[in-house]
Amino acid sequence: MSYPEHVLLHIDGEWKRAASGKTLPIINPANETVLGKLAHAGIADLDEALAAAEKGFQLWSRTSAFERYKLMRAAAVIVRERAETIARIMTAEQGKPLAEARMETLAAADLIDWFAEEGRRTYGRVIPSRAGGVSQIEVKEPVGPVAAFTPWNFPLNQVVRKLSAALATGCSIIVKGPEETPASPAELVRAFVDAGVPSGVVNLVYGVPAEISSYLIPHPVIKKISFTGSTAVGKQLASLAGQHMKRSTMELGGHSPVIVLPDADVQRAAKVMAGSKFRNAGQVCVSPTRFLVDQSVYDEFVEVFTTTTKAINVGDGLAEGTTMGPLVSERRVEAVGALVQEAVQAGAEVMTGGKRMGNAGYFFEPTVLSRVPKTARIMNEEPFGPVALMVPVDGLDEAIEEANRLNYGLAAYAFTRSADSAARMSGRVRSGMLSINHLGLALPEVPFGGINDSGYGTEGGADALEPYLNTKFVSHLQVE
Ligand code: NAD
Repeated sequence: MSYPEHVLLHIDGEWKRAASGKTLPIINPANETVLGKLAHAGIADLDEALAAAEKGFQLWSRTSAFERYKLMRAAAVIVRERAETIARIMTAEQGKPLAEARMETLAAADLIDWFAEEGRRTYGRVIPSRAGGVSQIEVKEPVGPVAAFTPWNFPLNQVVRKLSAALATGCSIIVKGPEETPASPAELVRAFVDAGVPSGVVNLVYGVPAEISSYLIPHPVIKKISFTGSTAVGKQLASLAGQHMKRSTMELGGHSPVIVLPDADVQRAAKVMAGSKFRNAGQVCVSPTRFLVDQSVYDEFVEVFTTTTKAINVGDGLAEGTTMGPLVSERRVEAVGALVQEAVQAGAEVMTGGKRMGNAGYFFEPTVLSRVPKTARIMNEEPFGPVALMVPVDGLDEAIEEANRLNYGLAAYAFTRSADSAARMSGRVRSGMLSINHLGLALPEVPFGGINDSGYGTEGGADALEPYLNTKFVSHLQVE
């Protein structure tokens, strides 16, 4: 597997080292070896990126929607052609099994295609006027250069939604990519560059996240912010954006409830959810976390879920047969370990897992905790790791109450055969997304986003372009 020795910044059409020459090591989470070096941007590099984004915006916003569409579609073709290489790079730096990295790469190409198409449909409208000779039109214009901050859990997916929405609408962008997993998003940017997207339109930097965000967000060139990451950081960035009257989209943490009612196909629900829980070692904002299972089917659900969990094959994501890789960093292993330990002290029962694995790499056992008290920290803070929390509940009302107890509101899941229960949950569960009886989230054409502490704005579906557009009204009286 060839991992790049040096991952560079991309500014104004050039791949370059940081002006200061500073680098950061990139670590393989499966064995803690150094994969390569990452260029570490300072203020001088950010100033160059800002000037490039401003220039790129002037050009790209005047490029026709059809031309933008053609270049984006060409980038999607390149991503598909290079999918195997990109996926291998992603697994090496992020840890997820190769099959998951391949899926993410191909999904990125689909997202580019969808946004490219949708960019051709950013319609305005003609508003009938009250007076003769007056034409009233509403037009959509690109908001301007965008600053996007993306995390390490889906190195491509988190970038591609922001990048594609920006490009489809005629905005330029500076992406602050994830320092832990930088080379695969750099390959995504390379696909756009190789497809012919002009210099300055797409810029990519890495460095100290807080330094970069506190410089870019207030900067007058930047007109829109998009962030995916933790709620705590999202609140800081949203308030900074607010102080400078910048529009923002915030895709933050979650603590997804899963409601399992007695009339569900319990065996199927347990298997589907165990598969979903341990995808990307649970480092997923929509990962199912609090399993609120009706007490009449609780033991059956926990047993099937635990048996499925025990069959997971943990290892290096590049090795044949691995179904769960390591966590991304030492920091995450420590955070997950501390949450599990505290839950067990609080009275949770360990059905399987519960500890770190091996002597090298950031591996944590797939873990199922049963009868977890609501007061345990893990029942209130996002675990963001391979831990499923089982809680027996007494009927639909109690399940909904517990689902809504936290101020998070990203994804929720439910399993029932009753149309009436499904309708009640649709109306009463407070979340941005609800998937009933299957995993139905995150396709390009459907909304993706949360409410409350999980953020605001959608990064999927027809509404995902709106945050990148200004509405302008033009009233025109024709004079003789
Ligand atoms: P963290 O809070 O340090 O960082 C989360 C992300 O935000 C990282 O990508 C980081 O680079 C970025 N970040 C941090 N401070 C920033 C700043 N001041 N300006 C701009 N970007 C900044 O936590 P972590 O240990 O890397 O990740 C753990 C937590 O992050 C999890 O508990 C989870 O809640 C959250 N997270 C969420 C998502 C998601 O998809 N919503 C993805 C990754 C991490």
